[in-house]
Amino acid sequence: MAKEIILVSEPWIGDKEKELVNQALDEGWVSSIGRFILEFEEKFAKFCSVKHGLAVSNGTVALHLALEALGIESGDEVLIPSLTFIATANAVHYTGAKPVCVDSEPETWNLDVEDLRKKITSKTKAIVPVHLYGHPCEMDEILEVAEENDLLVVEDCAEAHGAEYKKKKVGSFGDAGVFSFYANKVITTGEGGAIVTDDDELFEKMHFLRDHAMSKDKRYFHPEIGYNYRMTNLQAALGVAQMERIDEFIENKRKNAQLYNSLLKDTKGITLPPEKSHVKNVYWMYSILIEDEFPLTKDELMKELKEKGIDTRPFFIPINLQPPYKGQPVCRVAEEISSKGMSLPSSTKLTKEQIFGIADVINSGH
Ligand SMILES: *Cc1c(COP(=O)(O)O)cnc(C)c1O
Repeated sequence: MAKEIILVSEPWIGDKEKELVNQALDEGWVSSIGRFILEFEEKFAKFCSVKHGLAVSNGTVALHLALEALGIESGDEVLIPSLTFIATANAVHYTGAKPVCVDSEPETWNLDVEDLRKKITSKTKAIVPVHLYGHPCEMDEILEVAEENDLLVVEDCAEAHGAEYKKKKVGSFGDAGVFSFYANKVITTGEGGAIVTDDDELFEKMHFLRDHAMSKDKRYFHPEIGYNYRMTNLQAALGVAQMERIDEFIENKRKNAQLYNSLLKDTKGITLPPEKSHVKNVYWMYSILIEDEFPLTKDELMKELKEKGIDTRPFFIPINLQPPYKGQPVCRVAEEISSKGMSLPSSTKLTKEQIFGIADVINSGH
């Protein structure tokens, strides 16, 4: 019998998901017109306590569309954390602007506001804070920097659906908040993304650009270049079903993290994931740092876990170390966190027994 592998992340697809996707199929609305799109957009915006939601094909284009609609263009600079998924940098690049890497803060692994201030130039137009692995960025300070320097803020919330900073949901702080619904994210639509905003004008602009910038008054007249960044009704049907359980998913992730924390807190050489007292971390990926005092190297531990049927994931490689972005400022803290970091299985349907088993392997004394 093949050994059961515990994956880092699997989606939880229930009966409701199947029922609603089948409804969309039966009704024949399989592309991007259909009732589930509006329902999903409404539900998701409400969940974020934001006025508008716009569903798009994935999180990467959500970032691109928001930046483009906000007028980011060639010649501009956009500040991003170096420690993030490549999509954050690429989306900036697609606008013609230059992403500029900001180093991480050692405690939360998110962008360091001190370093953010240092990286501002006369060309800087926007900041894209990333709520890494589900822990919110220091939003009050970031908004203060943005205000003082007249910068736009697009939150990359692809890993942090439902996370809160001072009791307010991420995505509701910036000019826009961007989400991904890839299979391993907090909820999934297969592939998919969304942008939330309170700004009516920005919403209209993004809506227009999402559908090839077609004029509202005259069909097939396109006053500018737009995109096909639409989500399908099939995906939105999946999303509507997932929204019924999003709070439960987040609760499960937090409970799993607490259990992991309690089992690993006394293990020498392991740094547990952060949760500052004024935030709610959704622990998208339960992530730890393997310090020098740990008896094994990170790679050795990952190998040992793999042999026991437990999948893990290394941290992102900082943007300043990616070949297309060479020439970026060195980000030492980001590089160090990246070299030590790994994520353990974090699926919403992970069982207590599985977590006990994973902690046992890590604590086995070696
Ligand atoms: C997943 C992710 C994205 C991109 O989302 P896709 O839906 O995969 O395009 C962007 N930023 C971050 C931080 C992510 O983790």
